[in-house]
Amino acid sequence: MASNPKSVAVSHVGKIRSNNQDSGYAGAHLFVVADGMGGHAGGDVASAIAIKRIIDADKAYESAADAEFALKSALIAANSLLAEAVFEHQELTGMGTTVSGLLRVGDEMALAHIGDSRIYLYRDGELTQVTADHTFVQRLVDSGRITPEEAAVHPRRSVLMRVLGDVDASPEIDTTIVRTRPGDRWLICSDGLSSYVTDDRIRSALSHHPNTKDAANRLVKESLDQGAPDNVTVVLVDIDESGESSAHTPVIVGSAAQPLTYESEAGRSALRLPTLLLHPLKATKPDPSHFEPESEEYLTALIDEDRRRARRRRITWLVALALVLAVVATGIVAAYQWTQTRFYVGAYDGEVAIYQGVQQGLGPIRLSNVYEETGIPLDDLPPYWLSSVESTINADDLPDARAIVDRLEVMADE
Ligand code: CA
Repeated sequence: MASNPKSVAVSHVGKIRSNNQDSGYAGAHLFVVADGMGGHAGGDVASAIAIKRIIDADKAYESAADAEFALKSALIAANSLLAEAVFEHQELTGMGTTVSGLLRVGDEMALAHIGDSRIYLYRDGELTQVTADHTFVQRLVDSGRITPEEAAVHPRRSVLMRVLGDVDASPEIDTTIVRTRPGDRWLICSDGLSSYVTDDRIRSALSHHPNTKDAANRLVKESLDQGAPDNVTVVLVDIDESGESSAHTPVIVGSAAQPLTYESEAGRSALRLPTLLLHPLKATKPDPSHFEPESEEYLTALIDEDRRRARRRRITWLVALALVLAVVATGIVAAYQWTQTRFYVGAYDGEVAIYQGVQQGLGPIRLSNVYEETGIPLDDLPPYWLSSVESTINADDLPDARAIVDRLEVMADE
């Protein structure tokens, strides 16, 4: 770790990883974070190659447009260097790196970005993510297939759709120019920070630590407090009142601060081969953080897989729903069967009748029907019994209903 009054770069291997695949740089005008990935010897090499090439762009430019062009060109040149390295060292195949960089020209920032490292602007107490993650899950969020909350816990959240590497000769790099002003704090970080520390915690750390170095250290500490499963790199740039960049020694942290080691890594992987043969599972253990080429077929395959997962979830729900409906239906049948054990006496077509079922219906559904017509005209009944029959008389069972009818018949004859 090292610092100067206006910018600071800090990188930490984290608590789980054995090597740091991140690289960071804070220079006179240029500030960059790169997060490497792929292979057992590739990730740290990828971010180091990229940073070492991109820092050639750390110069004073006439305009922000010039700076934007220079920065983008530097990323494209780094992409070619990575492809060359893979060509010469096959064991590096599949390596790649994110790059997020700011190149300052006066009160403007030229920005270049690819991958899922992030650039945030902290201004007037508010934190804004300036870059968009080039991740599979962000695609799903953008297309409305999942919510940002679902993205945060999605099993494929670490899959990148775009990186620098040996995959694409002309990678799609986001660039833009943003105005800056005194008091602005620009944060560039790897996902080792942003995946484990909430935006709210980041904002809080920046608001409580006005000192650049303290704030950057606090952010790394926040990640360590969350267990720091990944390498974590923070580059923080404070735009001061004067708006001037002070001359200082550029700082490189992480993998790019070390000599490139892939030749010795290659030797080591050759030595490791017999172990891998003894434990073939180890050899195929996937890298937890990896990228995928942004081909339409591949994207379609990923989305199909996501759909299948969603379908499996739907099927589970449908089975559960069917079970609930079956239980409810069984209840309804039992309840209906019970109603059919009940009898009552009522009026039907101007005569007394015995009904099977209950008087109450379920909306339009009637739960009773005429069981037996008696032939006793309602008109023959005394007024009290007439109204009783019209409002129905409950019976305990069929014989009871017949007994009631017998009594009515006697009264009708009188
Ligand atoms: Ca990472």
